Amino acid sequence: MARNSLATMQGMVEVEQQLQCEKAIAMYRQLPNVLIFTFVASSALALYFQEAASQSSLLLWWGSMQLVSLLRLGGLWWWHQSLRQQHQNYTQMIRLFMLGALVSGGVWASFSVAYFNDAPAAQRLVIALVMATIAAGSINVLMLVPWVGRLFMALLIGPLVVLFATTGAMDDLVVAGLSLALFIGLSGFARVSRDSALHLFAAARDKDRSIAIALSQRDELARAKDDLELRLAEQIETLQFEIALKERYAQELARVASSDPLTGLLNRSSFERELRQQIEMARANNSCLGVLAIEVLRFDVIELQGAVVSEQILLVLADRLKGAMPRGSLIARWGGSEFAVTMSTQGRKWVHEAALLRGVLQQPIETGAGVMRIDVMIGISAFPGEARDAEQLLYQTSIARHSLRQQGTGGVKLFDLALDVGIQQRQRLRRSLHSALEADELSLVFQPIEPCGTSAPRKMEALLRWDEPELGAISPLLFIPVAEESGLIVPLGRWVLMSACKAAAQWSGDAVVSVNVSIHQILGGDLLADVNAALKSSGLAPERLEIEITESVFSHDIDLVCSVLEQIRALGVSLAIDDFGTGYSSLAYLRRLPVNIIKIDRSFIADLDHDARKLLLAIVGMARGLGFRIVVEGVETEQQRNLLVAMGVDYLQGYLISRPISARNVAGWLSAPNSLNA
Ligand code: C2E
Ligand code: MG
Ligand code: MG
Repeated sequence: MARNSLATMQGMVEVEQQLQCEKAIAMYRQLPNVLIFTFVASSALALYFQEAASQSSLLLWWGSMQLVSLLRLGGLWWWHQSLRQQHQNYTQMIRLFMLGALVSGGVWASFSVAYFNDAPAAQRLVIALVMATIAAGSINVLMLVPWVGRLFMALLIGPLVVLFATTGAMDDLVVAGLSLALFIGLSGFARVSRDSALHLFAAARDKDRSIAIALSQRDELARAKDDLELRLAEQIETLQFEIALKERYAQELARVASSDPLTGLLNRSSFERELRQQIEMARANNSCLGVLAIEVLRFDVIELQGAVVSEQILLVLADRLKGAMPRGSLIARWGGSEFAVTMSTQGRKWVHEAALLRGVLQQPIETGAGVMRIDVMIGISAFPGEARDAEQLLYQTSIARHSLRQQGTGGVKLFDLALDVGIQQRQRLRRSLHSALEADELSLVFQPIEPCGTSAPRKMEALLRWDEPELGAISPLLFIPVAEESGLIVPLGRWVLMSACKAAAQWSGDAVVSVNVSIHQILGGDLLADVNAALKSSGLAPERLEIEITESVFSHDIDLVCSVLEQIRALGVSLAIDDFGTGYSSLAYLRRLPVNIIKIDRSFIADLDHDARKLLLAIVGMARGLGFRIVVEGVETEQQRNLLVAMGVDYLQGYLISRPISARNVAGWLSAPNSLNA
């Protein structure tokens, strides 16, 4: 409420100031005309009366009038100065103007008073005319301050009314009356003209205000527009930045999504996508396209050197592939140590080209762990050929590579349908193997391992047999890997352990049963528990059980393997390394395992020329020196037997001594004397 009335008062003060300003402007705008008119009228009057009045008094009057005009001219100058300096006090200026007007009115009045009585009738009328004219002319401006206007008119007309009225002449009385009427009329006219002036001022003010409001609104709008444009520009800039950022992210995401994080090569999904396009192009152009699936041989062994070395090798291989493959080839890391590339070659020299690539990849690699050599398996499939699309092409490369993996050697293999048949067979085996255990299709045979010239306990190696109803007898060399791949090896191995221990428990004497165990029974199962269960259930003394494990243990978590084997060894069970010499381990490396027997692979005695003998002798000597007992496998000839006996190996196993025999014949075998001790 108080705030509203304060605002109203402020508004009123502003309006009053505005009014004063308008009045002052109207007055001072008229002042030059007033001064000119005053000069002309006063000069004309003075000249006209120069014969009727004394010169000096006229000059004094005229001089006074000019002095007043001069002072008012000074006021006008001051007005303009203050306008220019913008610190006007309008009320003061109006007062000054009015003072000048009243003084000038006084000087005019003094003329009537001074010269009226001596003037003839005509001159008196001239005086009246001049005064009336001045009064009428000034009314417009002076009436803006009513009392000043009235006083000014009273000064000019009042003395004349009195003077004309007091001459006694009838004519003068009429003039006095007319002058009075003029005074009254002018007063009325002045009021009306003042009202209309104020009205005009108000209208002008309203107009000015409207214009000012319109202008300020226009300015405000212009400012708002500028502001809006600025914000819009900022928003657009931000938006553009964000769009650019998003595009960059999208590109980066696409790049990350389509590439292998380690090598920067294509990843599997982007390779497959682009391969489909290349196949379409090859189809359209009637050209050939080869897909190579490359895998580092025994990379699991390399990984034992640590992640840094493995990654170094993968990066070098990626670089070599990039360098070796022609432009337009797709190069991808498939995962792990597997890569895939496409190539188009004239004359379908796929195998030749792949062999060259293998040569490049086989070059020694400098790593943090020293110079390393790797080998690769390269499976190839070609389009057009047996495959119709990318999926089939990739399937065929993996079949071709798989066949190399089965052989366990590096090399190059072009897909052919026979390979696929092999794969199909394996899949069939896998399906059948599931039911083999329940269907009682599995059995054990035993192959004697005879001590040479000692009274050490005789041994029997339990070997698994599978009599598949449709396919007949299937070699463990075929179905054991299938069982390992499918995880079936764990229940299968458990069954072998149990059956072998039960069989051995029936044997008379201290004959040992030797059971082959897969590394997958340690990693994927609980071998210790299986051994314990087999011993407990059969009642076989632990010393009569021997576990054979191949050197592949070294390519897995060696600490875990050691700990399991140590616990088995602690039971009193013997541990043998089977097929010694075919894997990657050295004798010194073997000492990490709690193994006490090594079984030298039959490949060492297959062709016993001079060098082979020396090598065998060295191995035997070293193994003996390290405290291992030595079994030699695959003894087929007398010559081999004699040589091995002469070398002093502990046990011999092979067709010469005996082929694997059925379980029911073991008792008979053991009851006969050991031929090696004969
Ligand atoms: P292995 O453990 O080295 O077994 C010896 C293999 O060599 C047997 O083949 C045996 O019949 C054969 N052999 C023995 N003496 C001679 C010989 O003088 N000349 C030739 N040429 N061969 C001989 P088999 O029974 O076919 O077994 C092959 C492989 O299958 C075994 O090699 C073993 O690694 C695996 N295996 C067999 N049974 C089992 C089992 O119950 N569990 C596991 N995990 N693997 C088994
Ligand atoms: Mg064996
Ligand atoms: Mg063996």
